[in-house]
Amino acid sequence: MRSFDVVVIGGGHAGCEAAAAAARMGAHTALITHKFSTIGEMSCNPAIGGLGKGHLVREIDALDGVMPRAIDQAGIQFRMLNRAKGPAVRGPRAQADRSLYRAAMQALISDQPNLAVIEDGAEDIVVENGRATAVVTSTGQTVTAGAIIITTGTFLRGTIYIGDRKIAAGRAGEAPAVGLAKTLERMGLPLGRLKTGTPARLDGRTIRWDGLDVQDGDDPPTPFSALTDRVTVPQIPCHITRTTPTTHALISDNLHRSAMYGGHIEGIGPRYCPSIEDKVVRFADRDHHQIFLEPEGLDDPTVYPNGISTSLPEDVQHAFLKTIPGLEDVSVIRPGYAIEYDYVDPRALSGTLELKTCSGLFLAGQINGTTGYEEAAAQGLLAGLNAARHAGTDTGRRMGHIDPEGSKQGISFDRADSYLGVMIDDLTTLGAPEPYRMFTSRAEYRLRLRADNADLRLTEKGREIRCVGDDRWRAFTSRRESLSYWRDRLEAETLTPHALAQGGVAINQDGARRSLLALLGHPGLNNDALMDLVPWMREIPVPVLEELSVDSRYQGYIDRQAADIAAFRRDASIKIPDDIDYGRIAGLTTEIRDRLTEARPETLGQIARLPGTTPAAQVAVLKYVRSLEKESGAAA
Ligand code: FAD
Repeated sequence: MRSFDVVVIGGGHAGCEAAAAAARMGAHTALITHKFSTIGEMSCNPAIGGLGKGHLVREIDALDGVMPRAIDQAGIQFRMLNRAKGPAVRGPRAQADRSLYRAAMQALISDQPNLAVIEDGAEDIVVENGRATAVVTSTGQTVTAGAIIITTGTFLRGTIYIGDRKIAAGRAGEAPAVGLAKTLERMGLPLGRLKTGTPARLDGRTIRWDGLDVQDGDDPPTPFSALTDRVTVPQIPCHITRTTPTTHALISDNLHRSAMYGGHIEGIGPRYCPSIEDKVVRFADRDHHQIFLEPEGLDDPTVYPNGISTSLPEDVQHAFLKTIPGLEDVSVIRPGYAIEYDYVDPRALSGTLELKTCSGLFLAGQINGTTGYEEAAAQGLLAGLNAARHAGTDTGRRMGHIDPEGSKQGISFDRADSYLGVMIDDLTTLGAPEPYRMFTSRAEYRLRLRADNADLRLTEKGREIRCVGDDRWRAFTSRRESLSYWRDRLEAETLTPHALAQGGVAINQDGARRSLLALLGHPGLNNDALMDLVPWMREIPVPVLEELSVDSRYQGYIDRQAADIAAFRRDASIKIPDDIDYGRIAGLTTEIRDRLTEARPETLGQIARLPGTTPAAQVAVLKYVRSLEKESGAAA
């Protein structure tokens, strides 16, 4: 029998981040996964980041996670999406060379101190007195643990569909996890079915590239991680094509043969990542849909056609592909497919990702109803930190990473400090009635939660909870000092509108002196013209100048949001007792009482975000919680 502080099941995006985080915290950690060689596998699109997702990756970096470092070693096209829009909604994205990404992630996992990889399948979890204590594997090993994290992705009772073909699989070519699904069922957890899909993989040597639109990446590419000086992987372009009316007619004629429309799949799919069948049905007035032809690697002819995932039978896939410009002679390397799998309703979890009904058992990633590598990785990181804390490890204590007092206190993030906090709150409050994907529109404090300032929001907290190592801390403090030095200098020097006008910078002639910092954020004012007037400003490093400009421009809004955030945090700090009996609270309607009993919110703030609850219901619960506090105070 082997014994660890933390055992992580599944070496996908959530599992790698969870295992690395727990090990960074000083927990003696094991990662049990089917195959070491699939660590870092990208089941679907070969890309990391994007709108909202890029924010999550930067937050993972701020907390010293591994995904950003891996993509910096594997990215073959880096682009800042929405560059022309406001800074809050810009999203860093990089396309990956699949095999470089796998190699980078495998190296990061192998090099991580305190972390062992066990190649095996987890079949069962041992639960004793409401506490998870061990994992039983398919080879009959029992691995005991202080805390366990399940990150099995799409593998729980996974079923692949291609037309009317049905294959039991966790993803193409890999067996599903059935034993573990039964364990979760036996534990009485609320399970559901969701689905997702992937397009066919194409042979790039058979694509007619001439005449297709070309999309280049940013030059120079901006890395994801603060620890990467510069990207050294060669950068290559993507191409863009589109479906045609003939494609749509062919798909419409064969809809009944699609696994989804033929009634084979009951699970709900990702609304924001629809299959091509969905697009043809839902947007019937459109005569084309864009397709990005993304190379899967520098030395790999495989091309990922982003935008046409499908569960149509192979013959229809071949036929519709040939109606797309550039793909007239294309060879298909692997057909597209849909996959349906079990997930656990994330309302069964607390804000630390621990199951409310089983101490020491954490869930992270697609198993919680999310979709996407970044969403999975961010949850993995949070679960890893908390599992290490929960296990209260000896090594962690010796290393000073886990203090005995704090070890039982969970680590959580809130909606005002991170997208990670937004995601966890959404999942644990509202559940995942459809696959959950991150978007900037999910965050109410967007101007504060930018991709460019993730480190300023999170690294200090990460250092306090001991998951941020010395290298990153040094890099962070040096950036913070640089920002502070230049901010002070820019604040100290002022110019009059007259001086600005003489230098050719037009501004309202109101006579008011303005600091250079205020001028940096002044709408419509050109920074180059300002730098001509004040030449030392050219010494400011570009990223620092950009950060200070954005901060200055939005400071007014950010300050105004402070009151909203204070109110939000006040409500979030009012905890609802686990064993509260909503039946005893006067003034709640039966519907609201049932909703609260089912959702079991952890804070007053979560009640406010539950659909169907009212301000009056919040006040009633608050009064009741206060009366309980008074009673227990009096009893003490
Ligand atoms: P995974 O990356 O799936 O990793 C799970 C890991 O657990 C695997 O390594 C597996 O071997 C291991 N494992 C499973 N069961 C066991 C067990 N019992 N014992 C030991 N190890 C086990 N995301 C999008 O954002 N957009 C998309 O369009 C999209 N399409 C997808 C299409 C398909 C066909 C698939 C399969 C996935 C798609 N995804 C998509 C989702 C994306 O791949 C996942 O969100 C992401 O990989 C989830 O990460 P994870 O860590 O939760 O799980």
